[in-house]
Amino acid sequence: METYIERAQSALLGVYKRFPITFSHGKGSWLYDTDSNEYIDFAGGIAVNSLGHAHPELNQAINEQVEKLIHVSNLFYTIPQIELAEKLNALIGPGKIFFSNSGAEANECLIKLARIYGNSFSEKKTEVITMHASFHGRTMAGISATGQEKVKLGFDPLLSGFTHIPFNDIEAVKKTSSSKTSAIIIEGIQGEGGIISAKPEFLLELRKWCNENKILLLFDAVQCGFFRTGSFQSYAEILREMPKEDTTKDSCSELKPDFIPDAISMAKSLGGGFPIGATWISDSYSHYLGAGTHGSTYGGNPLACKVSSKIIEIIERDNLAINARQMGIKLSNGLSELEKMHPDKLKGNRGLGLLRGSELHSFKVPDPYQSIPPSSYTCLLAQKNGLLLVPAGDHVVRFLPQLGVSSNEIDEALERFSKTINQLPL
Ligand SMILES: *Cc1c(COP(=O)(O)O)cnc(C)c1O
Repeated sequence: METYIERAQSALLGVYKRFPITFSHGKGSWLYDTDSNEYIDFAGGIAVNSLGHAHPELNQAINEQVEKLIHVSNLFYTIPQIELAEKLNALIGPGKIFFSNSGAEANECLIKLARIYGNSFSEKKTEVITMHASFHGRTMAGISATGQEKVKLGFDPLLSGFTHIPFNDIEAVKKTSSSKTSAIIIEGIQGEGGIISAKPEFLLELRKWCNENKILLLFDAVQCGFFRTGSFQSYAEILREMPKEDTTKDSCSELKPDFIPDAISMAKSLGGGFPIGATWISDSYSHYLGAGTHGSTYGGNPLACKVSSKIIEIIERDNLAINARQMGIKLSNGLSELEKMHPDKLKGNRGLGLLRGSELHSFKVPDPYQSIPPSSYTCLLAQKNGLLLVPAGDHVVRFLPQLGVSSNEIDEALERFSKTINQLPL
């Protein structure tokens, strides 16, 4: 009999390098494969499964909505879409929401906003600045915006007008901007790029620069948003973390209103596994995308919106953002301990909350896996120890557990990671 993997290879387009596991079901932070092996899931569907697997209340909400209404299109109104939009606006600030089905689509809306805003100037601002090592999705606009060559290879001609500069470098921003610049797009914490956080000073200077030069400041929060860092949006957490001596104010919460992007894209954890994307646009700019300028047939269907509203309700009720912050600190401390024991193998860890990366020293991947980078090899070894992680670049492994992960589960994951590190070649 053919295996699932053989059938997948003959039936599915080969765009993914997959690990050799076929999953059948999950519960909370745990996943089970078709051979009944158990794994602790710190891959989280790549920062998607915000409430883990098979959350009973989420499943109940899904079932109730399925019985009522799944889809009617955006020719009409539905209550779940209105309610979710109101909730997201309440969490971010005065603005308007566009719903789509993925992160790339949420970014597409950011990029169309940049274009239509830029074209409203007599000098036609047609340039968008993004960051080296950024990742903005796999559509043509997404790969054009992305600051990594590997996603673009073979797809010329790309969308024009994108320039990539070093992250956290305000001088590069100033040098590269011109009267033609309509927008700057950043991730609060670069995910695919290896868990690189924006520096608080950079965010504040960037906000100021964009204000002074009529440049939109656009946030790709697809991976770093949605409570994962401990705040709804990563910039709030980054500015909260700002060392006191660097601020003129006592309370960092006073800083937050000073810093709000002009638009924010969201997806991944927003749907907890159900496909949904959303783009928030501040009330100062939302009028640029009026009737007929953009759309999505599925976008904001009542089922997707009900799922997302329920997730937010559970996160708020059960204080899972605080949990994400605290468990993130525990995870980071545990990783730091391992770094002390293995300075030859582990370089350090970084990130905020439950968006964490552990950086590996480079090593020669042994036979027969020479074709994969050290990060993927480490994930493969971790899988054999019952721990799921996600590679980011060649030398970082990501820890992206569900927001409700328990202290015991962090300990368990650390123990399995420790075993994995012991097995790595020097
Ligand atoms: C995952 C990701 C995307 C793309 O999201 P999709 O849902 O795969 O289209 C865009 N930006 C960032 C920062 C991401 O992490």
